[in-house]
Amino acid sequence: MKHIGAHAFINGKIVALSDAHLPITCSAVLYGLSVYSVVFIKHTASGWLIFRIKDHLERLRQSAQLIGFSGVPESLDEAKLISIIRDLLSLNQSSTDQLCRITLHLSANIPGVRTRNLPTIPSVFLYDANPILPSSGARIKTSSWRRTSDNAIPPRAKVNGAYVNSALAKQEAIDCGYDDALFLNQNGYVSELTASNLFLVKRGELITPDPASDILEGITRRSIIDIARSKSIPVIERKVALTELYTADELFACGTSAFVSPLVEVDSRTVGTGETGIITEGLRNTLLGIQVNSKHDWITLV
Ligand code: PMP
Repeated sequence: MKHIGAHAFINGKIVALSDAHLPITCSAVLYGLSVYSVVFIKHTASGWLIFRIKDHLERLRQSAQLIGFSGVPESLDEAKLISIIRDLLSLNQSSTDQLCRITLHLSANIPGVRTRNLPTIPSVFLYDANPILPSSGARIKTSSWRRTSDNAIPPRAKVNGAYVNSALAKQEAIDCGYDDALFLNQNGYVSELTASNLFLVKRGELITPDPASDILEGITRRSIIDIARSKSIPVIERKVALTELYTADELFACGTSAFVSPLVEVDSRTVGTGETGIITEGLRNTLLGIQVNSKHDWITLV
């Protein structure tokens, strides 16, 4: 299990993690009606560096709006969130890179599955940033489960309940001896992994499923696209067929908790040389460099 910080923020105050509870009667518990984001915080000698906090808050707002919540409360505006994170880092005496999970829970008690004009409870907690995929190269398998489609449970919204889909696929992959599952969408095109986005490299071009391929529009994905373009690597967002992955030169997953993870095997086929590819390595190193650069636009120093 990951190490979770001993203090957490819930409903306006910081409490011991063991006292941070939701009622068993509320919509968040009953129906998975919570929206969330996970933010990376780098530990450096000159302070803690939060990665793209504004973009995470904006996606949280969009997830809330899409599901029909009334919005993100003022207690989670950018300045207040930064101050909560600063307090938690200090109280928890954190000393390694952290992930910060920010959630907005629908807290009404048994209202049925309505979402609008109902109260919400925000929560924030920190835990150690251990990558969820092996950084030396992960092995993945196409799932027998399909990604929920935009007109069923839209993957664009980061809703807790939607992760049943990911859990089914992840467990199946682990049961079959793989590190993670590859989702196809209902149309049979490549979508994403269970908690990360996917890129392939073919003849020097970077290709990734487009936002209409039933993906979560990851903030790391967007960062990789920007970094690649700044290096003059062509980036194409489009539908991707499964067999394109089998013949890719390089393949990698990316996400806040997955970082940039090379994918070295898909459905028992070795990808490229079976090692981390040169373009993957270059993009990963540039991202890591930005995450330790307190002067970069994407970074907030606390
Ligand atoms: N897809 C899914 C399903 C995810 O859960 C995540 C992790 N948040 C991602 C992609 C990557 O998103 P991000 O880069 O914003 O962490």
